Amino acid sequence: MAAATTLGTEEELTLTVKWSGKEYTVRVCGEDTVGELKRRICEVTDVLPKRQKLLYPKIASKLSDDSVLLCQLPLKSSIKMTMIGTVEDDIIVDQVDSPEIIDDFELGQDETVDIKDKEVNKQKLRRRIDLCNIDLRNPCRQGKKLLVLDIDYTLFDHRSTAENPLELMRPYLHEFLSAAYAEYDIMIWSATRMKWVELKMGELGVLNNPNYEITALLDHLAMTTLQSDSHGVFDCKPLGLIWAKFPEFYNAKNTIMFDDLRRNFVMNPQNGLTIKPFKKAHASRDSDQELVKLTQYLLAIAELDDLSNLDHNKWESYIADSSKRRRNT
Ligand SMILES: [Mg+2]
Repeated sequence: MAAATTLGTEEELTLTVKWSGKEYTVRVCGEDTVGELKRRICEVTDVLPKRQKLLYPKIASKLSDDSVLLCQLPLKSSIKMTMIGTVEDDIIVDQVDSPEIIDDFELGQDETVDIKDKEVNKQKLRRRIDLCNIDLRNPCRQGKKLLVLDIDYTLFDHRSTAENPLELMRPYLHEFLSAAYAEYDIMIWSATRMKWVELKMGELGVLNNPNYEITALLDHLAMTTLQSDSHGVFDCKPLGLIWAKFPEFYNAKNTIMFDDLRRNFVMNPQNGLTIKPFKKAHASRDSDQELVKLTQYLLAIAELDDLSNLDHNKWESYIADSSKRRRNT
């Protein structure tokens, strides 16, 4: 095969990465970013993306910019890169020192539509669907809707410190999950990696609670990296991945997702509810009622056939209206 100097956007290639005396191979394509390449490398080496330094002659500086597209680099299948980085043994400690959370940004309505409908972004989603598996911890249940939950700042304050992680859990978490489970299958999707998701949810007692079961856990490998004109490259959580994997159970009409970062919904804006972030757990623990109020909302809308024509930004007034309606009947 002729060795191309640069890669086409949809062209796939297998790169060899040397790390700690061993060689690993990863599959990427031209429209992937350096950040995505690092996630693939993390999958096989356990070295977190932010801990990786990639070395290759002449392009080392570009490889330190996570937003650079691989098709902009002179890569071909025969090359071997070197990675320098250390596995974190203590992933709890690591999490405290996790990558900076970029403040949420609002994308304009037009731009959201644009990003969602861009062929290159749809193509990215298709590729993610091909490459990513979702392991079910518990079977999908016929007739249930789907609730997808973020972890950091949604269910847990990952930035505060405590001797016991339970002190950082959002109040009423188990009550919320138990009540939601009556009407919804529950998936948890975090932008970190699976080891941490399992550990954190295990510590909070979410994975063995007798009152509900978690259908699946998803991590950063299920996310896609998108291009936007105003904010450059960013990651999102495309629900289309779940809908493609379980079409007989979940779709745009019966799915709702809670996240404190609105941009995570950009591929499915009608399905996202931006939750008030749970921060400074020690101070806010006694007053945070979000999960109690959101339980009412979830149960109130569970009777609808189509959730996608709701405006989840107005969820609080929806509860107020529906309790008024109940009083009047
Ligand atoms: Mg979050």
